[in-house]
Amino acid sequence: MKLLEERIRKDGVVKPGNVLKVDSFLNHQMDVIFFNEMAKEFKRLYEGVPINKILTIEASGIGIAIMAGLHLEVPVVFAKKSRSSNISDQVYHTVIHSYTHNNDNDVVVSKQYLNEDDHILIIDDFLANGCALEGLIDLVHQANATVEDIGIAVEKGFQEGGDRLRKAGYRVESLAIVDSMDPETGEITFRSSED
Ligand code: 5GP
Repeated sequence: MKLLEERIRKDGVVKPGNVLKVDSFLNHQMDVIFFNEMAKEFKRLYEGVPINKILTIEASGIGIAIMAGLHLEVPVVFAKKSRSSNISDQVYHTVIHSYTHNNDNDVVVSKQYLNEDDHILIIDDFLANGCALEGLIDLVHQANATVEDIGIAVEKGFQEGGDRLRKAGYRVESLAIVDSMDPETGEITFRSSED
């Protein structure tokens, strides 16, 4: 999505440790008009796919997921990071390693909101090593639901998550794929796309 690539070039900041900061429009302050444009693109990509629910993870996946839910007209469920060491049997539970914080989080979804009839679109803001998505896929599988598709705003294509998930047979659509980024010069290269 050219619009996202341009926005990343304009407002993205490349940090050491392979972190791309996009706090000014995506991760902290949220440009809702821009989110709406991303959601329209998701709607176009998933036309005809039998999705009845979106699953994301708090916090930064929620904004994009809500906009996509509005366009696809489906509910949005977000996996919660649990602060309690006492996980109830009313929830599906997995552990996700956080790329940005370098810690492990217990993540839960109530069994009420995921079930075997669900055809899920998983949405997140970033795809790096794939831990967040693999955790969300695990939750969907625990519910015997189906992962229809995975929608990402920014994939860092030089990290392994996207390749691994595609090789495992998942359809992953990323609105922008960063092929390389240089913290010294700030230069960002995108994988070429058709649009
Ligand atoms: P993964 O689990 O694929 O390694 O990392 C994905 C998660 O880490 C996303 O949910 C996102 O919040 C965070 N993340 C990974 N890389 C970046 C990055 O370069 N910039 C930002 N802002 N978040 C990232």
